[in-house]
Amino acid sequence: MPHRFDPDLNDMERTDLAAMSREELEELAWRLHELARSLANRAGEDSTTSSRPPSSDDPYRRGERGKPAAGRPDGGDDAETSAAPPESAGKPDETKTGRAAGKQPGAKGHWRRQPIVVSADVEHPPTVCAACGAGLGPDLERRRVSAHNSLELVRGDMSLQVTATKHVYFAVRCRCGHETLTCPGVGLSSQIEGRRRNLHMNERCLVGPMLATFIAALSLRFRLSRRKIQEFLGDWLALELGAATIERCIHEFGLASEPLVEQLIEDVQASKIVHLDETPWYQRGVLRWMWVAVTATTTVYHIGSRRKEELTALIGEAFLGWLVTDGYVAYRDHARRQRCLAHLIRKGLALAEGYYGDGSSFGRDLVRDLRRLIERVHDGDAETQAVKRLMARIKWDCQCNRYDIEKKVRDLAGEILNDWDAVVAFVSDPNLPPTNNEAERALRHAVIARRISFGTRTDEGSRFYAAGLSVIDTCRKRGVDPWAYACSLIAAARAKRPLPDIPVQAAA
Ligand SMILES: [Zn+2]
Repeated sequence: MPHRFDPDLNDMERTDLAAMSREELEELAWRLHELARSLANRAGEDSTTSSRPPSSDDPYRRGERGKPAAGRPDGGDDAETSAAPPESAGKPDETKTGRAAGKQPGAKGHWRRQPIVVSADVEHPPTVCAACGAGLGPDLERRRVSAHNSLELVRGDMSLQVTATKHVYFAVRCRCGHETLTCPGVGLSSQIEGRRRNLHMNERCLVGPMLATFIAALSLRFRLSRRKIQEFLGDWLALELGAATIERCIHEFGLASEPLVEQLIEDVQASKIVHLDETPWYQRGVLRWMWVAVTATTTVYHIGSRRKEELTALIGEAFLGWLVTDGYVAYRDHARRQRCLAHLIRKGLALAEGYYGDGSSFGRDLVRDLRRLIERVHDGDAETQAVKRLMARIKWDCQCNRYDIEKKVRDLAGEILNDWDAVVAFVSDPNLPPTNNEAERALRHAVIARRISFGTRTDEGSRFYAAGLSVIDTCRKRGVDPWAYACSLIAAARAKRPLPDIPVQAAA
């Protein structure tokens, strides 16, 4: 193991001190003092006092960090500038100005500078009389009742093209005398009390379903900000769309995805193996948690608190399958559970590379034995004597170190012993994966998004974001093109048609 410190912290016994001269002792004491000082300084650093990124800060201490310690006489001057949570430091802080986000009332509006050049008309004439049910043929006289322009993205083979069409709606008088007319469909809506403008999906929309899907993809999948999306569309497709239109498209995808999540949660609850994990998330600067549940064919995200109820919301009260998790307590009382061994191996490595005396060799042995156990079981040797011996040795090592003088050492030994059945569950069930990489990989995308975008702003935004990601990732798991599916989803939600299910493709 690399020695990072001078003096060497391992190779010394108490008796060595007795043999040293006074000068040697003084020298050693001074070097240890310097070392302790530099370590203490480093331990106290965070993003406000060093070049570390804000994301490396302790999520639980965000609010209080940077505030002067009580009674510290020198803390008064800089308190005002450093008290704000650093992840929101890069953007205008709403709480500071008391204003809502977005355009302010009375602010100058922006109008389209670019005229829409329509390439074709799409006609929507009524085909059946609403009164008598007779067919309404093209021979009958018809009258235009409404029309709107629509920009749509056409995905061809190796091409992307934006087209503008005019949708025209008609009224036709039947021979029975009744006039039937068509109009754009009105779809799902999301209403929140006190909001200036609620989200109502309908077919009378400037942005067609595929273009709306594309915008949602740029946001959810490619993590572009609203402003960057605006720039991208303008620069690369010569499309001039307002910030509100872009925001609306992203929210439309979330709103259309939401009803599907219930179905996806049912799929999770019926599956045999579920990977679970959670990571910090921010909603308007407040700490929340993003949970993920991953099965062979479904991925569901959920933003909420870290309490056990959120877990129940995902997997239900009566989940009968296996959970693959880390050591977080909320998972503990589920009987059929596999602990993520990658976590335990990382903890073992920390012991092995640190200065823990005998605890370091315990860490080394643990890492080696856990890795061997994973390999052996993977190779199909789970039933052999060698695996039984390996398990017995891991257990014995933990028992030997359970009362070690170093807290970190006895904690790890105790953690493994207390959760022993969950640590070795995969040995007796060859279908169980020994690590939780599936769920951790699923969260990585959201972790990067959180660092770029500072999280979400509202409950609705969090729900939409989680629902959108759930649909995209589930499509990928099931071998379905997520964007073609999302387009059909938005189109159905705008017209209030039944939402399509995500099929499971055979190749998935
Ligand atoms: Zn009629």
